[in-house]
Amino acid sequence: MKTFLNYLLIITFVVSAFHQLNAQTDPAIERIIEAGKTDNQAMQHLDILSNRFGGRLVGSDAYENAADWAASKFREWGMEVEMDEAGSVPVGFNRGPWFGRMMGEESMHLHFVTPSYTSGTKGVQRGHVLAEPKTRAEFERMKGSLKGAWVLITGKSNGFPIDYSEMADIKRDSIISANETAASKKSTPNSSKTSQPEYKPADEPALFYREMKEAGILGIIQSAPVPLVALYDRKNIGNMTFENLPSTPDIKLEEHQYDIIYQMVKERRQVILEFDIRNHFKPGPVKYHNVIGIIRGSEFPDEYVIMGGHLDAFDVATGGVDNGSGASPSMEAARLIMQSGVKPKRTILVCLWAAEEFGLLGSQSWIDRNKEKLPRISNMFNRDSGPLAPTSISVSEAMWNDMEDICKPLASINTDYPFILKKREARARPLKAWGTDSGPFAVEGVPTMSFGLEDVKGLNFSYMEIWHTERDTYDKSIAVYQEHAAIVTAVVVYGIANLGHLLPRDGYYLNE
Ligand SMILES: [Zn+2]
Repeated sequence: MKTFLNYLLIITFVVSAFHQLNAQTDPAIERIIEAGKTDNQAMQHLDILSNRFGGRLVGSDAYENAADWAASKFREWGMEVEMDEAGSVPVGFNRGPWFGRMMGEESMHLHFVTPSYTSGTKGVQRGHVLAEPKTRAEFERMKGSLKGAWVLITGKSNGFPIDYSEMADIKRDSIISANETAASKKSTPNSSKTSQPEYKPADEPALFYREMKEAGILGIIQSAPVPLVALYDRKNIGNMTFENLPSTPDIKLEEHQYDIIYQMVKERRQVILEFDIRNHFKPGPVKYHNVIGIIRGSEFPDEYVIMGGHLDAFDVATGGVDNGSGASPSMEAARLIMQSGVKPKRTILVCLWAAEEFGLLGSQSWIDRNKEKLPRISNMFNRDSGPLAPTSISVSEAMWNDMEDICKPLASINTDYPFILKKREARARPLKAWGTDSGPFAVEGVPTMSFGLEDVKGLNFSYMEIWHTERDTYDKSIAVYQEHAAIVTAVVVYGIANLGHLLPRDGYYLNE
């Protein structure tokens, strides 16, 4: 009996000691958190991405420089690197600075942008201003004065340029003739008695685009809401050649200034505008690469956890938020894991995707070439929705226990930042990718849990103010959130990579 009691005591002791041991954090996690708190370099990476390289447009030197640099950092931290060729653009584009002003007594500095892969000016170009013709008769009346003019076109800019392709000319021609037919019907005496609804001419911006260009305009100017957005020539980039580059500047001018100038032009006052726009091209094709940093798994090297965010950005600003705020904490999370000296059981792929902004091209290309890896990915973590603090994650029933253990240390990083697990209900697997790089993975049935993000300190962050706009700069990223995101990502990704099994997918998607 005594022996039995002794045994019981010993067993109880061993069990409780085991529990205590379990409750203690893995020393590697402690090192990750400690380094993340005392030597967090997330903002240094962002500084280099945004301010040394700048807007990392696909096809630009800035993108290539950023990709080479990120690869060199991964190597420096002891990781393997793959420069994963994901596609090419037929010509490259490098944006230089741009200037514009209204001359004369009421001179003003002009606030404007031009979309990427559109024409710059031939040096400083100064010219008078006209409002675009909307009928053939109007065109005929003013065609002699179009030479050397800046032309105000109608409509509101959505960030894309006016399509200069032949197809677009055909569409414009058909609108012109439909308008003419309607106008001629209207002018016949009997037409007013018919019950036909009155034809309203469609407002097509730059309706006489080809004719105005042939007449020698300097460029077109469209009204644009603030903050200004400049995207790229999505429709024509695929067919561009260095011998046949766009040649008419396509200016998107702040709407308040546009209105002032439009009013003056309507009053037939003399307005002279001057622009100097340095949009430069380079002969292609220009290849673009996903940068994939690899932390090779020690036990299950053919099983994966993916983390990252797209590296490319529009170049009207410097991609400080979209998506420097996703790429830089992912890089820092990788550095923290490497520095802690741990070897995770399965492979961590740190993916900095190319050409997300051109239609998720980099991530989709990787998926197409790596189908066999897809069933062996525990989760694809993507950060691409702003520089906010991760404060939760939604997990399925089947993952709950694993994720609860993994996320436990997050509560003690900083008491200002809570971290909670939420229950995730199974959802249908999407048929079409949503608008960021996790989309194509979800379509393939790969779990794409991401962190719930919050502006914990109430810093009045607005993503819509920044997304694809001229305000997407380094200073809009929020250092404390970025640094916190790096630590949280490192802890969770390492934890999942280090499980004894792949994260179970049961009940993540419906009926799977
Ligand atoms: Zn983005």
